[in-house]
Amino acid sequence: MNAPHWRDASPADYAVVGDPIGHSWSPLMQNAAFRALGLELRYSAIRVPAGELAEAATHLRAAGFRGLNVTVPLKEEAFALASELDAESSRYGAANVLELETLRGHNTDGPAFMNVLRRLGVEPCRALVLGAGGTARTLAVALGLAGFEVAIHNRTPQKAARLSAEIGVRHTLQASARGCSLVVDATSSSLTGGGPLVEWSGASPDALAFAAAYGVPSRFLEAAAAAGLRTQDGAEMLVEQGALSLEWWLGVEAPREAMREAIRR
Ligand code: NDP
Repeated sequence: MNAPHWRDASPADYAVVGDPIGHSWSPLMQNAAFRALGLELRYSAIRVPAGELAEAATHLRAAGFRGLNVTVPLKEEAFALASELDAESSRYGAANVLELETLRGHNTDGPAFMNVLRRLGVEPCRALVLGAGGTARTLAVALGLAGFEVAIHNRTPQKAARLSAEIGVRHTLQASARGCSLVVDATSSSLTGGGPLVEWSGASPDALAFAAAYGVPSRFLEAAAAAGLRTQDGAEMLVEQGALSLEWWLGVEAPREAMREAIRR
């Protein structure tokens, strides 16, 4: 589905911005939440190319928008643009939520990931994170803050070495789950049909394999399931980051079940 460029966006109250953005499930999910809450608010998807977030935010605010969810490739721009960030959000180096009146920024990706892990009963343990992009950074920082012992592995080792030094976690050249109770695929590989190949032997018997991606087949999750691990894709994290965003904007409890139902396929 095509989403309009920000200069051509129809009036609404909230939006998800990024590029590409037409595939986003957020409008379905957030409009269902507003309906369930009996609120006459509208949520749309708007294309904002890299480098245009500041100008777009000023324009959208003048057009009556109150808040934005921010996705690829704009989360670092949103972080830099934010007039104020709470202490936890400022640790992530990326913001995925903006409130337009004051330009306050917030990160709900990290807390959403941790809420999903808590619901699945995952306690601080040894964890392997695959990838070295924005999502790997956020999820590894969130795990580190919660007391997990984190190692990062990436296809391009130099990037993982740089990221792990920046955020103070271990870098590993082996994609091995040995001794781990949690293995996280934070790569964008399932978008291209590939996937990191993990050596699953020696993983804890109750280990969880978590993929941030959603809505696409995951070779990572298929291999984890074949190795006897529990698996979880990124759909529940998507719902939770949206729910936490709505709660941050409106100060009311988000109707998570209505949001889940809206994106169930
Ligand atoms: P980035 O583009 O920032 O990072 C991509 C990473 O994936 C790089 O480390 C890259 O390795 C690695 N990679 C790409 N293809 C392969 C492959 N075939 N094999 C191994 N590694 C590969 O992506 P993001 O961090 O923005 O997003 C990652 C994923 O997380 C996406 O699928 C996104 O949809 C999902 N996501 C889900 C959310 C949710 O709410 N559920 C929230 C945010 C993101 P290299 O450095 O070698 O190029």
